[in-house]
Amino acid sequence: MLQIIPSPHENVVVIKATGLLTDYDYNKFIPKLEEIIKLRGSVSVLVEFEGFRGWKPKAMWDDFKLGFKHDGDFKKIAVVGEKARHHVFTDIVKAFSSGKVHYFDHDKIQKAWDWILQEETAGNEENSLEEQGRIEMKPYSRIITAMDFSPHANRALSRAVEVGVHYNAVIFALHVFESMIQYYNVYQDDFVDDFVDSSLAYSLYDPELDQKMSDSARERLEKIIASIDYPDITARQVWGSPVSTIISFAESQRADLIVVGSHGRRGFAKLLGSTANGVVNSARCDVLVVRLD
Ligand code: AMP
Repeated sequence: MLQIIPSPHENVVVIKATGLLTDYDYNKFIPKLEEIIKLRGSVSVLVEFEGFRGWKPKAMWDDFKLGFKHDGDFKKIAVVGEKARHHVFTDIVKAFSSGKVHYFDHDKIQKAWDWILQEETAGNEENSLEEQGRIEMKPYSRIITAMDFSPHANRALSRAVEVGVHYNAVIFALHVFESMIQYYNVYQDDFVDDFVDSSLAYSLYDPELDQKMSDSARERLEKIIASIDYPDITARQVWGSPVSTIISFAESQRADLIVVGSHGRRGFAKLLGSTANGVVNSARCDVLVVRLD
């Protein structure tokens, strides 16, 4: 799945690649990207690979690489993904540009954002306040609430709205859709371009079923959000794994607060669930962990 994640950074296009890229992605993604380039002109790109399993049919993507020539349109390209697979990502990224490309491991997503935004934020007031060692308590303005449809997450959503009302903030209710193919261990370090053709896992994988499940979760989220009496709340769905997707989405949205439930649909074995724990440990903005009574 290829997704273009809307972001408040006007000059940055955020792309997420997960699982398998199919002709469905190809037909949806290319026109969207062309349109963005036409509208915004020269942009930087942050492309994140997570649980990436290749593309099918490959020939279509080979055509894309030959036909998609926008060299001058990309200022910088940050590639975020697993280090061991950087050679695979290089091949894909070459399709975009021969320009300035930098690689970052997943756990360095914040560094990727810093690099992409370097010139835009250099010397602005925020930086100089930090340099002077002054601490300014700013009101929350962009809140993300993480939704897995569990009672805990519902409670977190209510809390996010309460905080949002207080600060007059924009709220994003984020659902992370976990595609099964991400968890198929179909490659080791000998990842090759067309490996998927012969893999048993691929033959069992049904992209249409995944798409249906993701659509149904998105509709469910949109319904919940529509029932909330708050003027500035938006439903978003991103494919990936929960912790890293919540963190990278927060970066892409310049979020200053993430609200999560202490537990979710994965059970209650520990004091904090694994998603809550991971988000608390990795986010660089504030995190509010909401418990059920
Ligand atoms: P867990 O740690 O998985 O038990 O879940 C704790 C909290 O993390 C939930 O209450 C949600 O706020 C959030 N969360 C877990 N999974 C997802 C997901 N797939 N999408 C969005 N938020 C999630």
